[in-house]
Amino acid sequence: MYIKKQRLLTPGPTPLLPQALHAMMGSDMHHRTEDFRKVYKSVLNGLKETMQTQNDVIVLVGSGSAAMEAAIQNCFSVGEEVLVCTAGKFGERWTALTKGFGLKPTVIEQPYGGAVTPAQVAAAFEANPNFRAVFIQASETSTGAAHDIEGIAKVIRNYDALFVIDAITGLGTMPLKIDEWGLDIVIGGSQKAFMIPPGLAFLSISDRAWKRMETSNIARFYFDLRRERKNAVNGESAWTPAVSLLLAMDAALKYIRDLGMDNLIKNAQLLARATRAAATALGLELLSGNNPGGSVTAICAPPGMDSSLIVKDFRNRFGSIIANGQGSMKGQIFRIAHLGYFDFGDLFAMVAELEIILAANGYPVQFGTGVAAVQNVYAEAALAKELAKEPVAV
Ligand SMILES: *Cc1c(COP(=O)(O)O)cnc(C)c1O
Repeated sequence: MYIKKQRLLTPGPTPLLPQALHAMMGSDMHHRTEDFRKVYKSVLNGLKETMQTQNDVIVLVGSGSAAMEAAIQNCFSVGEEVLVCTAGKFGERWTALTKGFGLKPTVIEQPYGGAVTPAQVAAAFEANPNFRAVFIQASETSTGAAHDIEGIAKVIRNYDALFVIDAITGLGTMPLKIDEWGLDIVIGGSQKAFMIPPGLAFLSISDRAWKRMETSNIARFYFDLRRERKNAVNGESAWTPAVSLLLAMDAALKYIRDLGMDNLIKNAQLLARATRAAATALGLELLSGNNPGGSVTAICAPPGMDSSLIVKDFRNRFGSIIANGQGSMKGQIFRIAHLGYFDFGDLFAMVAELEIILAANGYPVQFGTGVAAVQNVYAEAALAKELAKEPVAV
């Protein structure tokens, strides 16, 4: 009846950067040529620069989980004891992966919406100082919670354990000082804050982690990080790479460098703050209110309303694709994303749509309440600064 533009507004895949999408049209390129080597080197350097690390960064073809798997395959041996910190669906993936490869994980588990604390990690090491690694999510996308990576890193550095971080939605939404904090493996994925389609995973690797690879005994072939490192020196990947995605990544990295990684993070955090303000103004509860991150905000559906209905209404009424809860949270929460190519325009629309959807499903809403909350955050953060500036002489 009305025009509905389909808008991808989930926390992965995220909205695509137009110039990255256009760059993919140059994909008729062979990967053993100078043209490609230039692109590959540029992507590897760009990733190091945006991740702000001196560590090598390796790119793999696969979704984010590919790099999670590669980290385990390359750095560990069967039977090793490790510590897994989990507070949601993606933390559970670390548990399954470490078990799947024959490691012996001890699991610190927090309920969905919570976060594992440095004190809990310290207590675990006091009980067993022999853990070979700690696995965690920087940002737990299933709940919107963020972990105190700096605090936990401090605890771990007292021991001979690798710190392996799934930062797939942490990169670009929170500060992660890889070199300063001593983060051994930091994992990212293309379809999150990097604004391009799914299919590339990447990870920064510390000297400590490279050293572990010399003695680890888990079988590996396709995701052999040392083989990739050798080839990367010459601007090549071990296997046929995803050329189209690398072209997109090169364009996206240029955009992120021009914007500034710090500004990308600030953008996500400001949108997250505005979203929390809108939810609160509308009388809705936040799932991770005590430890909210900048990647995504998980909002509880009003009592008695199924969040699947809200998600479906977003799509049917407005063409907006937003995320439901995952696992046990399905039907309980809906998630508003902020990571990557999201702006205030997106958020104004989502909150205005939400108000209409809530009202249509019997939840009392004074139209404009949530939108005004977003406007106030914008005004405080941006407008106030601009108005305070000296008037421009004409
Ligand atoms: C998206 C995501 C992943 C990776 O999922 P894939 O489907 O393999 O890309 C892992 N961890 C977190 C926290 C994520 O948000």
